[in-house]
Amino acid sequence: MEVIDLRSDTVTKPTEEMRQAMYRAEVGDDVYRDDPTVNRLEELAAREMGKEAALFVASGTMANQVAVMAHTKRGDEIILGEKSHIYVNEVGGIAYLAGVQAALVTETEGVMDARVVEQKIRQENIHYPNTSLICVENTHNMAGGRVVPLAAMKEIHDVGKRHGIPVHLDGARIYNAAAYLGVEAKEIAKYCDSVNVCLSKGLCAPVGSVLAGSREFIERARKFRKMLGGGMRQAGILAAAGIVAIEKMSKRLKEDHENALLLAKGLNSLEGVSVDVGRVQTNLIMVDFAGTGLNGMQVAERLKQNGILINGSSSPVVRFAVHYYITPDDVKRTVEVVSKIIKN
Ligand SMILES: *Cc1c(COP(=O)(O)O)cnc(C)c1O
Repeated sequence: MEVIDLRSDTVTKPTEEMRQAMYRAEVGDDVYRDDPTVNRLEELAAREMGKEAALFVASGTMANQVAVMAHTKRGDEIILGEKSHIYVNEVGGIAYLAGVQAALVTETEGVMDARVVEQKIRQENIHYPNTSLICVENTHNMAGGRVVPLAAMKEIHDVGKRHGIPVHLDGARIYNAAAYLGVEAKEIAKYCDSVNVCLSKGLCAPVGSVLAGSREFIERARKFRKMLGGGMRQAGILAAAGIVAIEKMSKRLKEDHENALLLAKGLNSLEGVSVDVGRVQTNLIMVDFAGTGLNGMQVAERLKQNGILINGSSSPVVRFAVHYYITPDDVKRTVEVVSKIIKN
């Protein structure tokens, strides 16, 4: 029996078409800007995001970190969500690498209130740091793949513009947000000055993210990428998969969202298991096992014995991530197995 891997959308392996494209990719030394495939990916990503330029980087974390480094000066303060990936899951990089501190905003369903963001902007005062960046996340990972509405994106961008502060969008899953909203990704990205897009999550590329923004910003980011050891030479081998990710895989994410909803409904129908089905918008669902008396670790352990993988947690709420390799049959089997393990 095949293992059903619902730990993350990062577990997706490259598709056959990606492997073919990687095999055939024309390459060169990208540090000399000689890799035609990387150049093509960067031009494609810039166009997709409606920005002047883009930079291929090793990971979403690297995209976010070089963005923060390129937007700020050491000792600055940046405004970001208390549950944001940049704050919670990037090993304190903003402090260690960029040397900035965080002004945190509590999100509601993954969305920061623009008025609260504005209140966090520091006035001129000899005691205060300089606020130099606002970060938004869409879709919001820890909120369970929630989409930040366009109106909320615009309000925050308007606050930034009024105060001369750029907005960076952690759009690791921007294409999931675009699929949910039924708009092109650039309709979301127009409300930010720079954006990170992960190619290696639901889009199935083996490695990499792209950072897009103004030409001048991307040149600064390119230098920070080099500083972090991210000058990757014949990276066209990887970029070739990234091109397939954007051109092809970004167009089918609605299927994942449908399967996620199917899974949410199936699990929610089980005694003691609860999913707020109305909150499921994209490919991530948060499942509460409190009514079964099991915690997330116990659920993960029992599922594993039955060939299903999720990331355990000490709380009874666990995340299930749906992706390209999860079929409606997998959803059905998952619901059956969960039904079995909560009974004994
Ligand atoms: C996964 C993720 C990242 C980081 O991407 P890596 O490639 O894992 O470094 C950044 N932001 C969000 C919202 C993510 O989900």
